[in-house]
Amino acid sequence: MFSVKDLELEIWQRQALMALADQSSPWECCGFVMDNGVIIPIQNIEDELAIYRMHPGEQIQAMAYRMPWAVYHSHVSSRGYPSQTDKAMQRSDYHQIIVSLMEHSVRLFDPEWRIIKEWGSIS
Ligand SMILES: [Zn+2]
Repeated sequence: MFSVKDLELEIWQRQALMALADQSSPWECCGFVMDNGVIIPIQNIEDELAIYRMHPGEQIQAMAYRMPWAVYHSHVSSRGYPSQTDKAMQRSDYHQIIVSLMEHSVRLFDPEWRIIKEWGSIS
């Protein structure tokens, strides 16, 4: 069973995140992995590519359900490392997850953007 202390993502979560990234392409997908492991997609209200902005109301709804453990978003045509914008826009102490469609990878970071774990070649 998923636990916050695991600081990991199970294979079904990585596959689900990759599928969400695929569906939103060429826009980035974004959302939460909650403290019980449930993935809650949040609408990306940013028009521009290669950047994301989470729908405020949907964030509040998700937080009424459970506490987020991590924020995820996708990179469509760049590697799965935080951009300057990602670092500048972060305002939470949640873990961070970047799904890269280009690399077909998922990277899990702590709130200071240190890599905890990375998975490649996710189908
Ligand atoms: Zn990014």
